[in-house]
Amino acid sequence: MIPMVDLKRQYRTIKAEIDAAVGDVLTGAQFILGPNVTALEEEVAAYHGVPCAIGVASGTDALLLALNACGVGEGDEVITTPFTFIATAEVASLLKAKPVFIDIRPDTFNMDPALVEAKITKKTKAIVPVHLFGHPADMDPLLELAARYNLKIIEDCAQAFGAVYKGRKIGTMGDCGAFSFFPSKNLAGYGDGGMIITKDEQLAATIRILRNHGSEKRYYHKMIGYNSRLDEIQAAIIRVKLKRIDAYNEGRRANARAYCAAIKAADVVLPVEAEGCRHVYHQFTLKVKNRDRLQQVLQEKGIASAVYYPVPLHRQEAFGGMSDIVLPHAEACAAQVLSLPMFPELTAEEILMISDAINHA
Ligand SMILES: *Cc1c(COP(=O)(O)O)cnc(C)c1O
Repeated sequence: MIPMVDLKRQYRTIKAEIDAAVGDVLTGAQFILGPNVTALEEEVAAYHGVPCAIGVASGTDALLLALNACGVGEGDEVITTPFTFIATAEVASLLKAKPVFIDIRPDTFNMDPALVEAKITKKTKAIVPVHLFGHPADMDPLLELAARYNLKIIEDCAQAFGAVYKGRKIGTMGDCGAFSFFPSKNLAGYGDGGMIITKDEQLAATIRILRNHGSEKRYYHKMIGYNSRLDEIQAAIIRVKLKRIDAYNEGRRANARAYCAAIKAADVVLPVEAEGCRHVYHQFTLKVKNRDRLQQVLQEKGIASAVYYPVPLHRQEAFGGMSDIVLPHAEACAAQVLSLPMFPELTAEEILMISDAINHA
């Protein structure tokens, strides 16, 4: 079976370094907010050329704490995309704000900025663009709207560490960038983890307090916060992989090029890279009308594939009562997308075999 992602293959190539890093944490016995979290925060901030990075417990918490620190709360509206993992919008609801879903562009799968202004109201507080599958969202028009209407922008960077939009790294353009280190992400630990980056020292200070039960000084609590710290063992693991992230992303890009050269099936729409964007292919996602049949054919040949995402968020039971909303591109993509195996260590032979199976399906 060719899996969607093979973490064992990657581990074999970095085992000595990972094992030593984890061993050092165990020997040092500083497990919560220790030296590896501090070092990783500095390294991720330096990678992005921003002053602040704050490690938290997950990508979901990165979004939650960022929205909270940006002042999103009861009665506010948060503009976002319906074609994403639920966490993107779930956090708005957790803060008693309302997610407002904007349709996507059928080529990049990202929020269509041309549709945003019509949905801005007096209650709108923030926009949460998602750099889905590793492709940067179209940020310039969103930044312009945010400046004009005084809105916050929190970038959901969970799938796109290292992606670039018109010369700027994703996560550095809005008020905050929220990253996930969930094991299958393109930069990942071996468990849950997340990080927020920001240029705003004030915002960073608030997030640091929020992640640690609202306290700066132990047992003195300024506000109601969370227990949401990045784990020291995860930080040690992620540091080993951060050194290689550009090479890993280059590997994904090379694999995407190989897929695009080899897949010839007329009914398949290949992923695009918009002008000025550096896609990091967290996922390699096709559109195909006869999606379920293609998935069946691949399955029979021992090739994994996956549907991200089968139900757009405005159709989810959890956000009940949105049955009047119609977002045609999100709904069409949900019915047609199919993601193929994608990870840096995928071999040329495997890509040819998968492409061949698609071409003859
Ligand atoms: C994975 C993911 C998240 C949540 O990250 P976790 O670390 O799993 O909490 C949020 N948004 C998107 C787009 C994701 O893919």
